[in-house]
Amino acid sequence: MNVRTFISTRDSNPALAKNFKDAILNPSAPQGGLYTFDTLPKLSTQDIVSLSNLSYEELCIKLFKILDLGLDEVLLKDVLQCYKSFDDPTNPAPIIGFDENLFMLNLYSGPTRAFKDMALQPFGALLSHFAAQKKQTYMILAATSGDTGPATLQSFANKPFIKVVCLYPSGGTSDVQRLQMTTQEASNCKVIGIYGDFDDAQNALKSLLNNTHFIESLHKQNIALSAANSVNIGRIVFQIIYHFWAYISLFKNNKLTLGEKISIVVPSGNFGNILGAFFAKKMGLPIDKLVVASNVNNILSDFINTGVYDISKRNLLKSKSPAMDILKSSNVERVLYALFGAKRTKECMQSLNTTGAYTLNKDELALLREDFLALFCDDTQCLQSIAQGFKCGFVLDPHSAIAYYGAKKLQEEGALAKTIFLSTAEWSKFAPSVWEALVKAQMVQGICKNDKEALEGICAHTQASIPPQISTLFDKKEVQNDVILPTEIESCIMQWLRNKN
Ligand SMILES: *Cc1c(COP(=O)(O)O)cnc(C)c1O
Repeated sequence: MNVRTFISTRDSNPALAKNFKDAILNPSAPQGGLYTFDTLPKLSTQDIVSLSNLSYEELCIKLFKILDLGLDEVLLKDVLQCYKSFDDPTNPAPIIGFDENLFMLNLYSGPTRAFKDMALQPFGALLSHFAAQKKQTYMILAATSGDTGPATLQSFANKPFIKVVCLYPSGGTSDVQRLQMTTQEASNCKVIGIYGDFDDAQNALKSLLNNTHFIESLHKQNIALSAANSVNIGRIVFQIIYHFWAYISLFKNNKLTLGEKISIVVPSGNFGNILGAFFAKKMGLPIDKLVVASNVNNILSDFINTGVYDISKRNLLKSKSPAMDILKSSNVERVLYALFGAKRTKECMQSLNTTGAYTLNKDELALLREDFLALFCDDTQCLQSIAQGFKCGFVLDPHSAIAYYGAKKLQEEGALAKTIFLSTAEWSKFAPSVWEALVKAQMVQGICKNDKEALEGICAHTQASIPPQISTLFDKKEVQNDVILPTEIESCIMQWLRNKN
């Protein structure tokens, strides 16, 4: 059997390709690109029907086999045990009907209540296994605005041959998100608050990755650096699976006929989630449109509507959907590669780096729009959408509400027929905004001071209850209390390593 190799989005020379394991352990690809699929196998409708009696784990094993990832089946089975800790151990990604033509895919039923768990849970186990096999310790650095950090810590806590350092902007996350990190007790995890915003945390991480003194000090202790951010192809492959799962679930429940096309609306930031759907489409899953839903940082929806990706005149705006507050959306690069090839991708990325912009020509834009549609909404529309969702009996978080807004709007305009929108976080993770949308409007005068009050207020107002993963956080001790300047990070990490040994 041929095992697949992954190539760089900026240099498709097969001599530079890497197998799956090496691509996920050392994720920086030649020419500053990203490892990606060169080609994808195409399934027929009959092939897709034949997947319909599989469990989620079996579906993943089967699709990875079709993708020739070359993974040992016993290992993969073991890694997929992680889904047993999700709300329904037999269904980590349940689909819920809003009406005959609109469905919600719930991707937040894992331990940290955001969709990051869907891929980071198995990915963490896989990476740790590969590290143990090589007897090489890896340090995973993560910078987070709130969801990636908790999911990374949860995934790697107490895993052998792995150390995690997680940087977050102090005061820049919700109480729930902070507690999910600062209450982490595992001795292989270090959480550091930074004086500054998410960009400062992200820049600090980038400068560490390029800091030769830091890298050499780690080498002396036999530690290599790696990254678990959403450009790692090891995360993307797990994000293909649930799109197949959603389609098959609807088919089995007679909500669609065989081969009938469905559109998927994704609240997008770094473009990893929707990239999984794009790959599923290229593998033959009957998807009509892939819809990018953005917030006011609408760089992605502008790009898909105009062909111009231009960050040169933009500043990042703070919104109520912080996981989508992003301007440089990394995974777009993999779509450029799939549609236009390595040479053109490199050209666009170089232009983005030097001028802050690149522009597709008319034909390229037309090709992009065969697969993608896009729209955005502001915070007011987002909160209205949460209220509208509640009228239908659902409590949505701000990110999911943006996807819901997009699906409704495009269906009303006749641009979409049957549609799935992705729900990427539980309401409990963004309680103050949900409170504002559902509870405040009902009060003559109302303020809510923190996440805890908001959570309780929402429960009193709706039928919702706080999941144990969130409610127990408030009783745990915050054991990771470092808050420091970006310049102090290196010495803080070294100090931590010394204390461990
Ligand atoms: C990370 C995240 C997103 C954005 O996903 P991308 O894969 O980066 O596009 C959307 N919603 C929530 C709640 C998230 O945590």
